[in-house]
Amino acid sequence: MGSSGAEAGISHEGRELVVPPKIDYHKCEGCKICYDYCPMDVYTWDEDLKMPRVSYEDECWHCGICWMECPRRAIDIRLPAPCW
Ligand code: SF4
Ligand code: SF4
Repeated sequence: MGSSGAEAGISHEGRELVVPPKIDYHKCEGCKICYDYCPMDVYTWDEDLKMPRVSYEDECWHCGICWMECPRRAIDIRLPAPCW
């Protein structure tokens, strides 16, 4: 069964309201800060690759901590529309 637009974070106008964090692995240096700092445990840690994974994106409340603390600016987040 497919998800509705609202469940997928898409408004009725087709605009993205909530975008989960995305990691640019070309920039990430595996410092683990995002994994350690995220208050919602959105990230898990891949021990084999020594890199974070966005594993629980639905838990992200877009606080911006990971984005602010990442020393490589490797994380992209977009705030929900009501926060603009
Ligand atoms: S804080 Fe940035 S550089 Fe460090 S592990 Fe997370 S994404 Fe990679
Ligand atoms: S924006 Fe906040 S809640 Fe979302 S992944 Fe980053 S630190 Fe976690």
